[in-house]
Formats: sequence, C-alpha cells, structure tokens
Amino acid sequence: MSDDLIGGAVDAARERYIAEREKRLRTDGVEQYSILEGDNARFDHDPWAPPPDPRDALVEEVDAVVLGGGFSGMHVAIELKKHGVDSFRLIEKGSDFGGTWYWNRYPGCRCDVESYVYMPYLEETGYMPTEKYARAPEIFEHCQRIGKHFDLYPHALFQTEIQSASWQQDQQRWLVRTTCGDQLSARFLITAGGLLHKAKLPAIKGIETFQGKTFHTARWDYSYTGGSPTEPMTGLNGKRVGIIGTGATAVQAVPELARSGAEVFVFQRTPAAVGVRGNGPTDEAWFTALPAGWQRKRILNFTAAVSGDQPEDDQVGDGWTETMWHNTAAATGTPEEQARLDQLDFEVMQKIRDRVDAEVHDPATADLLKPWWAKHCKRVAFHDEYLAAFNEPNVHLIDTDGMGVHEVGAGGPIVDGTEYDLDLLIFASGFEVTTGYVRRLGFDPVGRDGTFLSERWHDGAHTLHGVHTAEFPNLLLVAIAQASASTNFVHFISEVTAHVAAVVARCQAEGIAEIEADPQAEEEWLHFLWAKGAASSSAAYNKMCTPSYMNNEGQMSMVAARGVVWPGNVGRYADHLAAWRAAEEMAGVKTVRHSET
Ligand code: NDP
Repeated sequence: MSDDLIGGAVDAARERYIAEREKRLRTDGVEQYSILEGDNARFDHDPWAPPPDPRDALVEEVDAVVLGGGFSGMHVAIELKKHGVDSFRLIEKGSDFGGTWYWNRYPGCRCDVESYVYMPYLEETGYMPTEKYARAPEIFEHCQRIGKHFDLYPHALFQTEIQSASWQQDQQRWLVRTTCGDQLSARFLITAGGLLHKAKLPAIKGIETFQGKTFHTARWDYSYTGGSPTEPMTGLNGKRVGIIGTGATAVQAVPELARSGAEVFVFQRTPAAVGVRGNGPTDEAWFTALPAGWQRKRILNFTAAVSGDQPEDDQVGDGWTETMWHNTAAATGTPEEQARLDQLDFEVMQKIRDRVDAEVHDPATADLLKPWWAKHCKRVAFHDEYLAAFNEPNVHLIDTDGMGVHEVGAGGPIVDGTEYDLDLLIFASGFEVTTGYVRRLGFDPVGRDGTFLSERWHDGAHTLHGVHTAEFPNLLLVAIAQASASTNFVHFISEVTAHVAAVVARCQAEGIAEIEADPQAEEEWLHFLWAKGAASSSAAYNKMCTPSYMNNEGQMSMVAARGVVWPGNVGRYADHLAAWRAAEEMAGVKTVRHSET
C-alpha cells in the first residue's frame, strides 16, 4: 500500500472511531450502572463462603490494620514483615486470601498477563506455574501458598468487613470497628482493597422482572450450571443462556458456555479486541534453569515493553508486548512522529480486525465483531477460541449497535423489539473503577476533627503520591488515583506496597507518631501529574475512545480529572517514590513525633 493509501485508511479508521464513540456517549456516564445493594444485594452473595463460624470479637492494639486480602493486602503484609513490623491485622470480606481470584471463578477464567510476571513471589515460594497463562484456580491456590509461606494466616480476619474507622487524636491511632464486632486500635490504617472488587450491573429497565436464574460472573453459581471451574457445566445442557457484556471476562467465559450444550446468546454493545493468545505448558527445563532474581527482571522487562520504553530484548514476547511495544497514547513527538505512531496504532488494530475475518465464517457476524477503537482505549483481550465460538450453531451474537441492552422482560433481554427467552442471564458487566473511593471502600473514614473522607474528597482525590491525604493522619492508600497503574497490575501493587511499608517502617524508626500530606503539596502533586499527562498526547487520544471504565465512560469531570495517574512506566513512579524516601526530609508531608505530643 502506498503512503497515501495507508494515510487514508488511518484517517478513515479515526473517523470511524470517533463515530463509534459518539454513538455510545450517554449523559448518565457511570450512573448507567447500579451497585450491588438494596434489591441487587442478591447479586453480591458469596457463593464460596463456608457456613458461618462465629468467632469472638477482638479488642486489640496493633501497629496496622490492612484492608484487603487480595494481592494488594498480601503484598502490604509481606512488606511490613520484611521491615520487622509483625503487629497487624488484615481484614478481608472473603473467606480466604485471593481477592479477585477468590471471587472470579467463572469458567475459562485465567490471568491475561503471563503467569511468570503476573503471579508474585514465584522464586520465594519455589512454585512453577503450569502454563504461560495460568487458570484461575491455580492462581487462587497460589494466593494460599503465599499466605502460608509468609505466615499471613494468623493475621487474617476473614468474612469480616470494616464498618467504621475514625482517627482518635488523643491516642494518635485509628479506631477500626468491624462487622464482627472487633475493635482494633491501630497506628496505621492501610486501605488495599484492590481495583476490581465491587461488581456492577447495568441499570437496565425491568431487570427485576426477569423470571429466570441470574448472576454476575464474579459470583458464578455452579450449583445452577453444574461443573466447576475445571469441569464441564452439565447443568446447562439444553438450557437457553444469555450473557450481557463482551469485555475480557466474557471473552474467556463464552467459549466455555459454547461447549456446555446450551443455546448461548451474547449481547454485545462494543466488540472486544481479541488478539492471539498462544498459551502452552511451562517448559520445565527452561523454568528451572532461570537464574536467581529472574522474576523481578522479567517483570521490569515486560512493563517496559508494554509502556513504550522498548527494552533491548522482549523476554515475554506475547500479544501484549507486540501490541503495546509503542505507546501510541503517550507520543510527544513531531507531527511526522505522531503520524508514524497513529499508523502503528492503526496497523495493530487492523490486524485484530483482520483476524476476525479469518476466524469467523459468517461475514455479517464477523463484521459485527470488529472493534473500531484505538488500541489504548480499552484493555485488549487475548484468546484463541472466543471468535471461533461464533461459528458454533448454538452461539448467537445479538449486537445492539452500540446501544446496549436497555430493557429486560420476564423472559429475558429485549433488543429491537425481540424478547430473548432465557433460562439463565449472566452479567459480564464489569466492576466499579471510577466511582467514588468511599463508595468502593464501603465505609467513610473519619479523620482529624471529625472530617469525613467523602467530604474532603467530594471533588475527587486529594493526595500526595496517591498514598497520603491531609487531615487523615496515618491513613495510607493503595489505590490507582494519583498513583500509577500498569498492564501487569501486580507490578504496580508490588511497587506501591513496598513504598507504603517503607513509610511505616521509617515512621517507627524515627519515632513519628503522625504523618499526613500537606494540602499544598497535594495540589502540587496533582498539577505535576496533570502536566505530565498533558505533555503526552493521552488527552487528545482519549477523544477518539469509545466509553469504558478506562475513561470514566467518556465523561470528563473534576472527580475524573483528579483521578489522574502517572503516565507511562510504573517503574518511573516507583523511582520517584524511592528518591523521595531516600531524602533526609520527607517533603510534602506533615509529621508529629512522639516526643512532641
Ligand atoms: P468490562 O468493564 O471490561 O466489560 C463490561 C462489558 O459489559 C462491556 O463489554 C460493556 O460494554 C458491557 N455492557 C455494560 N452495560 C451493557 C449493556 N447495558 N448492554 C450490553 N453490554 C453492556 O468488564 P470485564 O469483567 O470484562 O473486565 C474488567 C477488567 O477485569 C478487565 O479490563 C481486566 O482488567 C480484568 N480482567 C482480567 C482478566 C485477567 O485475565 N487478568 C480476565 C477478566 C477480566 P461497553 O464496552 O460498551 O462498555
């Protein structure tokens, strides 16, 4: 193709991207979803919990209370232990460690990032993942392995939630009350609740009138479907099953539903981009010969490759690194450089669109499955059976032309006047990511002078580094707003939790009783991040993105703007934090020493 023809195709694709975005923009933004409370609380029921085993309420004094028993909370706990801090409680709603891997047990669930960089502490625990992309049960089991290896179980309070947390100025401690009646007095409160822990439902008219069985993918009900994450779902044979959503979760679940003997109806609003997966068993000879320290190096190498930092060698060498090798959303070059990156972005997405034609036999269905969005707009999925599933006579694509399902009757979803009668309706509709932090925490921390976090953050996050916030002494946040993020989310977790634990250790070593952000430093940090973001082309790029949780459903607001993250490689954010910690004075925080009180 000549340069002119390629340029024309890139321009045409951009126009289509913008048209597809505009079709989907809605005034209600994130409010189009409802939370799993009130009538919807039934969707939040824990199908995995053992029968209740009441325990005595605890009244304890500890150095730290850590919220969350997923990878974030576990990392905090391990890092605290590394610093010799052993007096802490870890509070977790589920009945075991695992977080997202505790909840997500839907069929076909796997990590979408290579196991060798995603599954933490492989060298410490001596564990070799069985496959390049491990199944969810294996990752969940690894969470328990980590819990045992690092002796975290004695610290954990499972099936417990924080009900309230308030700063007690006279004691310079947090008083944390739980749903099990515990009263924990903690020097530090560390919120490590994870990114994807609150499932959400589209607020579809008539949803409550549906007469069949229904659940969210993060609460899969095998008592209805039969089978298990590793066994066929015999209970679905002959049933009519619908699934709403075509994100990363549905991409993994649909091929398993297709195999179940059910008639499967896939309700699509926006097609997923589905690249080649190429999974396979781990080469044991290769794995056992890896030199000490290999995992950290591989993690850094992967993050560099998917952040546009392009290391000399691509160690992971998969769809992620191939797709993201050039960070086309963060280009800061000349117009010629920008045009080159636009073209690269187009080529990656065109390859994904061409793959649909190669995999899906019916041209009309193939056309509907093509993603018309640029590669950083949503999380790209990788799967080798999803597209081919639409060739099966029992799998039906119900495309909604970007409008989504907006009505459900007693029989099932109604699209274009047709009601699809279903026995089972599954919601693969994702999680709350950009809703208010307090809503996602599940309680409203009360800081100095009775200030509620919801009040102080009414217009969005106010932090230094995404970690400290003014008027909330010794509250340390593990969250992405004003911090960072990473394709390999566990890499981000490992960096920020190492930082948080080092801050705790430094406070203890230096007799610091209180630490909180200086409000002026919070604003400076925010403006620093905004300037960093503006220096990249990410804002302009976003204007051609279809709505999703990655861009606050396409709505700009102060809350969303304050949720900015460090653009690019999480390693640079970690370097910044390390330099801050290494300095004699911790700039931008206010501290009170024990001797001063
Ligand atoms: P997503 O938020 O990515 O997808 C939700 C889906 O529901 C979208 O396709 C959305 O459409 C669709 N939807 C919402 N409302 C409607 C409606 N009214 N009618 C029809 N469709 C609707 O959630 P996922 O659970 O798929 O993934 C969330 C994240 O979880 C991923 O991005 C990834 O980070 C993580 N994940 C990771 C996995 C892993 O292997 N590590 C596996 C699975 C998930 P639209 O796109 O138009 O908004």
